[in-house]
Order: sequence, then structure tokens, then C-alpha cells
Amino acid sequence: MPTPDFDFIGRSKRFGSRYFVNNIDGSHAMLSREQYRNLIQKNLDKKLFSELESKGVIVTDKNIQKTVDKFRMRRSLVFQGPSLHIVIPTLRCNQVCVYCHAASRKMDAKNCDMDEETLKRTVDFIFKTSSTHITIEFQGGEPLVRFDLVKKFYEYATEKNKKYKKDLKFALVTNLTLMDDEKLKYLRKNLIAICTSLDGPKYVHDKNRMMIGGGGSYDKVAKWIKKINKDYKKGHAKLNALVTITKHSLKYPKEIIDEYRSLGLHVIFLRWVDPFGFAGPVWDKISYSAEEFLEFWKKGVDYVYELEEKFFERSSLILLRKMLGKYDPAFLDIANPCGAGIGQLAYMHDGSIYSCDEGRMYGGEFFKLGDVNQSYKKVMTSPKM
Ligand code: SF4
Repeated sequence: MPTPDFDFIGRSKRFGSRYFVNNIDGSHAMLSREQYRNLIQKNLDKKLFSELESKGVIVTDKNIQKTVDKFRMRRSLVFQGPSLHIVIPTLRCNQVCVYCHAASRKMDAKNCDMDEETLKRTVDFIFKTSSTHITIEFQGGEPLVRFDLVKKFYEYATEKNKKYKKDLKFALVTNLTLMDDEKLKYLRKNLIAICTSLDGPKYVHDKNRMMIGGGGSYDKVAKWIKKINKDYKKGHAKLNALVTITKHSLKYPKEIIDEYRSLGLHVIFLRWVDPFGFAGPVWDKISYSAEEFLEFWKKGVDYVYELEEKFFERSSLILLRKMLGKYDPAFLDIANPCGAGIGQLAYMHDGSIYSCDEGRMYGGEFFKLGDVNQSYKKVMTSPKM
């Protein structure tokens, strides 16, 4: 009896003598070489046909609606409106990191801070999003340089949310060197998540992340990571750290991971460096080929998976969830379609609105969609959007 009609609209990858196949909605199976050949030649026996149909790996008249629904769920990002709103209260920073993607300004620079009128207009604009979830993420420059603005932003947005009732969250991306007990208390009380940068042990971190005036920032960052983790209680917003891999870091996958473990962190994200901001002019000195990065990444991921403890590598988890999960992890840098404008927006200190974090880092007008003085509709339907 001929195989009933079906489509296979997925991808495959060979692992030794087995073939991993997955559908665009994340449904997947592992096949023998013969089964894989039969799938490609559309010559499935009854048993395998039923199995692949019920798993959703092949699409038939019977299961197509389920495939469509699952696909829609995985691409829900496209239909929600921007939920991640990146806000730059100031472009000034007390550090001068070798790769600073934000191209931060010196501490005495003028016209680099958000004024209060722009702050309010930015919050008003954010609340126009059709998304029911809003995450406001403060970035910089170093947001703790103007912690007063972070507080005002938090307070105005929280007040406004009494009317809008969105699922509202806050996060602060900070180098931690200006942290103190009072600021930490405020962040904890208001469940503002903290995300910092740690590039590895002191001899790696301090080569990349320097203070203005000289010296590395490792000692202060490590001190605050330890303190925040030590005092962590259930109900506190989590502390996360990000690593940026430069050429100098490539020799130390294990040492970088061990540094995270020794400071009480449970997740690492082995992240490549981008050619934005300060990284552009020194690109030859700090960058590497894709092959060099992958070799480093595989060593790091292998090491993490060998550890017999709860410690994770985030990029590998994102990729696995993208391949196998019911929901897309909505990590906008590698979302398809990309999250620019539809998943996130970035607001500069002067009220300019960019498509995304990378868009504002790229600089100039190319990814600029408008500003907070314009209506939400005008920005979101602009030709550039
Ligand atoms: S990367 Fe962050 S901490 Fe470093 S100079 Fe840029 S804004 Fe400052």
C-alpha cells in the first residue's frame, strides 16, 4: 500500500549512524539511516508513518492544524508587540572597557543624561505597547552613575502600571563598581534584577574591563557578586553575570567557568564579542574567527556538561530549546524573525528610539525609528520599522 501523502518541512542532522529530524514547530525524532532514507523518499511503512504523524515530525491533512497552532505559539513574539524596553538613563561611565559596545562617554561629558521630561515621555511611550508583558532594562553607560534617574523611572512606571496592569518587570545592567548597600537595598526591595559583567578570573577580566584612571574592575565586581549571592534569599531578584569573550579569553574556557562557580553563580553565557563601539577600532587585537570561537565554546560547553552540579551554559540551553522546545526562548539576538522593533525597542538618553540594543550600538540614524515625542503608531508604522 503506498504511503499516504505527507510533507516534511524540517531539518535533519546526522549523528554517527543516526539522524536527528525536527519539524519547524520543534517536533522531533531520532531515526536510523534506513528510516531517514525512507522519510526523504516518502516511502514510510505504516508504523513509522503513524509514529512521525503523531509526533508532528511529518505534516498530514490530519495533523496540519496542530502544526499550525504549535508554529504560531513558537512565533508568538511576532504578534505580541515589543516587551523588552532598553533604557539608557546616561551614556556616561566610570569604566573604559576595551570592547565597550555602547561607546560610553567620560564622566565629565555633557548632554549625555536623560532629562526628566524625556524620562516621563519614555515611560508613556513604553506603556503604549500592545504586549501584556513589559521588561524595562536599564543600560548605559553605567546606570548607577544616575541612580536617581533609575529610581524616578521605576517610580513613575510603577505608578502608571496601576492603571495599565501589565506584567511589569525591571532589570539593571551594571558594572557594579558604584554599588553600595543603600542602592542594593532599593533594588532588592523593588525586585529589580541585577545583571553584571564578569569576564573570568582577574587576569582575564582586568585585561578587558578597566577603570577610567587605570586598574581593572575585578576586585570590586567580585566583592559585590559574592555579597549579593551570600545575602540572597528566596524572593530576591536574581543576579546574573555575562561574559564577553575576547581573543585573550580563548585560552581559558575552564578557568572562566570555574571563576563563575567559585563566586556562587550558576549560569554562564559564553558570549562572543561584537564589532560595535570601542571594539571597532581594536577589532584586530580582540577578535577571532568563527572557528576559533566555536572551538572555545565547545570546550566550555563540554566542561559544563561534565560537571556534576547544577551549573548551566545559557547559549547551549537557548539553542536546545529552539530546536526541541514548545516555546521559542525569545532570545532576540538569534530569533527568526529577529526581535528588532517587534520584540524590543531601545530608548536613548535624548529620547531617540532604536530598533534594538544592537541598533543603538551601531550608532547613527540607520536603526533609528523615531523618538518619544512621536506617537506610538507613527514610530511602529514608520517605513524603517
Ligand atoms: S562596557 Fe559597560 S562598564 Fe564597560 S565602559 Fe562600556 S558601559 Fe562602561
